[in-house]
Amino acid sequence: MGRGILLVVSGPSGVGKSSVVHALTERVDFHFSVSWTTRDRRPGESDGVDYVFVDREHFEHGVEQGGFLEWAEYSGHLYGTPRQPVLAQLDQGNHVLLDIENDGAGQVKHAYPQALLVFLLPPSMEELERRLRGRGDTSDRDIERRLGIAREQIAEAGAKFDHLVTNHEVDVVADEIVSILTAAAGR
Ligand code: 5GP
Repeated sequence: MGRGILLVVSGPSGVGKSSVVHALTERVDFHFSVSWTTRDRRPGESDGVDYVFVDREHFEHGVEQGGFLEWAEYSGHLYGTPRQPVLAQLDQGNHVLLDIENDGAGQVKHAYPQALLVFLLPPSMEELERRLRGRGDTSDRDIERRLGIAREQIAEAGAKFDHLVTNHEVDVVADEIVSILTAAAGR
């Protein structure tokens, strides 16, 4: 039995990443890595399922112990992927899916060069802005800030990611990523 594939899906805020990740999990049997975070739990989220919610001290201890495959600060909070469970799943031949932001994706490639890095692009910046506004829970200032971050992420994505895929339509994108995965598994 071969090793599983480590698939990293990243993309700017508002690009529709969670819908694509959800569609992927319906097509492929992935182990979904549960990250640690220092942000507060949102209504509807469960500890140990959506994230492992920890305080900063606990998180930093994990960093010192080398416990994370990658970690990054996003919007004032720390997020990290526990190393051991991911590597154990890959060793057992299972595919692992990471839904993480850009800095973390780069670290994964560094720590585990066989990882497959996919970056989701919006159809256009106008469409990204429309999607961000459509959420209705984000202030104008925050939207401007996220659009600025998105421009930077998109500019550097070509050099950092193995595949750039435009999210016109969730099911089409999910099928495209499955093809990428199938090709990589056959190598
Ligand atoms: P949220 O707070 O909305 O759940 O997530 C904020 C951002 O953090 C998202 O872009 C999400 O993909 C990213 N994220 C979640 N877990 C991790 C992680 O373990 N590492 C990194 N680098 N980013 C993460």
